[in-house]
Amino acid sequence: MSPQKALADAERKPYWLDRSIAPEPLPPLTGDATADLAVVGGGFTGLWTALMSKERDPSLDVVLLEGRAVGWAASGRNGGFCAASLTHGLGNGQDRWPAEIATLERLGRENLDEIESTLARYGVDCSYERTGELRVATEEWQLPGLDQEVSGAASLGVRLERLDREQVRAEVDSPTYLGGVWDRQGVAMVDPARLAWGLRDVCVRLGVRVFEHTPVRSLHDDGLVLELDTPKGRVRAGRVALGTGAFPPLLRRLRHFLVPVYDYVLMTEPVPDDLLAEIGWRGRQGVGDSANRFHYYRLTDDNRILWGGYDAVYHNGGLVRQEYDQRDATFEKLATHFFETFPQLHGLRFTHRWGGIIDTCSRFSAFFGTAYGSRLAYAAGYTGLGVGATRFGANVMLDLLQGRVTERTDLHMVRHKPVPFPPEPVRSGVIQLTRWAIARADEHEGRRNAWLRTLDAFGVGFDS
Ligand SMILES: Cc1cc2nc3c(=O)[nH]c(=O)nc-3n(C[C@H](O)[C@H](O)[C@H](O)COP(=O)(O)OP(=O)(O)OC[C@H]3O[C@@H](n4cnc5c(N)ncnc54)[C@H](O)[C@@H]3O)c2cc1C
Repeated sequence: MSPQKALADAERKPYWLDRSIAPEPLPPLTGDATADLAVVGGGFTGLWTALMSKERDPSLDVVLLEGRAVGWAASGRNGGFCAASLTHGLGNGQDRWPAEIATLERLGRENLDEIESTLARYGVDCSYERTGELRVATEEWQLPGLDQEVSGAASLGVRLERLDREQVRAEVDSPTYLGGVWDRQGVAMVDPARLAWGLRDVCVRLGVRVFEHTPVRSLHDDGLVLELDTPKGRVRAGRVALGTGAFPPLLRRLRHFLVPVYDYVLMTEPVPDDLLAEIGWRGRQGVGDSANRFHYYRLTDDNRILWGGYDAVYHNGGLVRQEYDQRDATFEKLATHFFETFPQLHGLRFTHRWGGIIDTCSRFSAFFGTAYGSRLAYAAGYTGLGVGATRFGANVMLDLLQGRVTERTDLHMVRHKPVPFPPEPVRSGVIQLTRWAIARADEHEGRRNAWLRTLDAFGVGFDS
């Protein structure tokens, strides 16, 4: 069956959100309200911020304002790889923050452990499975990178297993694999929409007032409190936390650091047991390949395969539009790559195809800050690895809003911002040139041209 045929009946919406278990949205804000803390955004950043603010101080009056439905954006439509890494992978963290990477890795693992214990404590069922992740090489030039990852982790006391061709194929059998690394502890798989919905329920149980379909149109300071205007009401809050991801930010200065990048995903029908047995995959690990343009893939709890990544698309001008959630050229490319990776699955069909926006920044990992005399805090820029790291970002925002100096707020990573993107139209030109150079590097055994080497020298780049 051709990739086009395998895609023919695929629904054009996110599988995770397209289920009868989706909860009814909570009513929007009408009229005026006051709060000690107003959280803007109902993705993982906002949900964890609201939840943990009540855990820190149950007497705090907290509202959460979400423009559409909780979890409808990146948080409910992603791959569900919940990683310990706070730095978009160890290599990126080691390059940027060599002096504090040991601390960042430890804090990241503690963060993942705390996610796991929080879900257990509140009974959030989101098919959480701490399977780890296999990172596989599909071309010879990628193998040294795997060795580097293992030795880099070992220098921090973290054990990753280096698998040769036979060993990696004994785990997940693709003829394209040449070797792999198994990070057994550093990544869990989650059902992202059920995680978002579960966190929403916990927030409500803890007393957070959650308002959906309540976009915040503007923010201003009346001297004493911050005022948030929404279509049918206004919140006056002592403190504000912004968790608005890749969307146009309420604080203009964030526009310099963020670009919305579209990432695309396919979901298959459930794989019959006999077919799945041909691949193995008994460990149910998440899998990622190692080119600059990488795929990520995993099993769901009913043994569908989610298959995403590769193209990271920036629309000139940083435009965000609903129609961009669909991109047939990318879906066909992804389907072709899927059957090249798993020829055993020839004949399998895709049931869903979708895209979503990632909040990319030039250092590929979150940045943080405050405004209005430290009465507002923000965290953004997770660049495609925020399912786990958003909880860390939420903790940073709460530390900043409480004026607490902690191990987190002392980090260089927290105290310093990424290099800003240039303004448009130069921004579009630079990003498209970089995307082209990255694609060329993958076609030429990873060799980086003069442009990419220049960006590397300045510690900036483009990723998903
Ligand atoms: C296709 C795809 C696959 C991905 N796969 C992975 C993965 O496997 N692992 C991983 O770690 N990360 C992955 N990511 C990234 C991850 O999903 C994000 O890093 C994370 O969900 C970011 O959460 P957030 O809360 O910061 O942003 P979002 O989930 O985007 O939430 C922001 C929310 O703010 C709301 N909002 C914005 N402006 C306003 C306003 N003015 N008023 C009110 N509300 C507002 C929006 O409606 C939205 O709900 C993926 C992302 C995509 C798109």
